[in-house]
Amino acid sequence: MLAFFLLHNESIAMNFETSELTQQVAATARDFAQQHIKPYVMQWDETQEFPLSVFKEMGKLGLMGVLVPEKYGGAGLSYFEYVTIIQEISKVCGSIGLSLAAHNSLCIGHLLAFANEEQKQKYLPKLATAEWIGAWGLTEANTGSDAGNMKTTAVKDGNDWILNGTKNWITHGKTGDIAVVIARTGEPRAKDNATAFVVEKGTPGFSGGRKENKLGMRASETAEMIFDNCRIPDANRLGEVGNGFKQSLKVLDGGRISIAALSLGIAKGAYEAAVRYSKERHQFDQPISNFQGISFKLADMATEIMAAELLTLQACDLKIRGEAMTKQAAMAKYYASEVAVKTSNEAVQVFGGYGYTKDFPVEKYYRDSKLCTIGEGTSEIQKLVISREILRG
Ligand SMILES: Cc1cc2nc3c(=O)[nH]c(=O)nc-3n(C[C@H](O)[C@H](O)[C@H](O)COP(=O)(O)OP(=O)(O)OC[C@H]3O[C@@H](n4cnc5c(N)ncnc54)[C@H](O)[C@@H]3O)c2cc1C
Repeated sequence: MLAFFLLHNESIAMNFETSELTQQVAATARDFAQQHIKPYVMQWDETQEFPLSVFKEMGKLGLMGVLVPEKYGGAGLSYFEYVTIIQEISKVCGSIGLSLAAHNSLCIGHLLAFANEEQKQKYLPKLATAEWIGAWGLTEANTGSDAGNMKTTAVKDGNDWILNGTKNWITHGKTGDIAVVIARTGEPRAKDNATAFVVEKGTPGFSGGRKENKLGMRASETAEMIFDNCRIPDANRLGEVGNGFKQSLKVLDGGRISIAALSLGIAKGAYEAAVRYSKERHQFDQPISNFQGISFKLADMATEIMAAELLTLQACDLKIRGEAMTKQAAMAKYYASEVAVKTSNEAVQVFGGYGYTKDFPVEKYYRDSKLCTIGEGTSEIQKLVISREILRG
């Protein structure tokens, strides 16, 4: 089915048929999640363990280099397959979905877009196979939404750069084997004052710091990265000096599609659990799904998930065609993440008291979903991006 959207003179044609390839990829990710993730979800959640071995296994299946061309050892798939994989994994565990997204679309996404050929050959094959786990560091303790005001500096010294500062809230900040790091190379608040670099684990002066103890997404490692007179060669610089922040905004456009997919996975998981339970649970001698108060919740969930999915597919479609999609990616991320929070909240309600316990999966969907309205730009920042794009035209 080919559909056309017309809004504010923008015409977008989209084909909603799922290709055979996408279906095969979905089945692979679904089987993997059932076999290697589902049995351990609550154990990892309780202990906050980052299950490195699972990522190594996903590397064997191509899930850690979904978008990496085959010539660099990746799966060479498109954003359609990528969001499908993130959804299938996140239906079972949001933490694994989040780490998969940070590795694939932030770290690898930055390298795919801005690394030179030599850098791609050096880093992508190791990342695509999960021999190396990737991190991406933009945020600092005092500069989250206002990331352009970062304090971490990189100062040129001969043919090297010396990095000083601390990045916070970094997915794989301790475990990551390499990190793309954005540091200030110009004056504070000046235009084009940041540059992106690759920093490898083991480089003197680079260490992982405190690991966060989180509400949800507890099996995804979130930690500080500390740079103390960390010397790296100019060969590790990604793109031009001064382009780092602009590069980050482009990387985040793609990253936000993956957070939309993560949100969709969580929302679908919570919705499916709620539908099942509402048919099994009896009160007043009948299934609770007979009560309109419950069935209307399911109707709202299904409708909003569908709308979020269409927004996500639209952003994917534009990304694959190489067209501008800053607004559409922000819309997809904003809407899908809010839907994930609302759906998982309502799923807990459908489960009643049982939903409030760790014996059923919905309390975890509820805790995990909240990250989606915060990471890679809060909902407020998405509205800022969307309104700026609307008013620009
Ligand atoms: C689990 C997790 C994983 C993460 N992974 C990474 C990672 O891998 N790499 C990385 O670089 N970062 C990462 N982050 C950081 C994340 O991107 C930031 O937390 C996020 O951008 C928000 O920044 P902040 O936490 O400093 O909030 P703040 O910017 O302090 O925002 C606080 C509140 O103020 C609001 N606000 C701020 N500015 C405005 C404004 N102009 N208008 C309206 N409201 C505003 C915000 O919406 C929010 O509600 C991660 C965060 C978490 C929690």
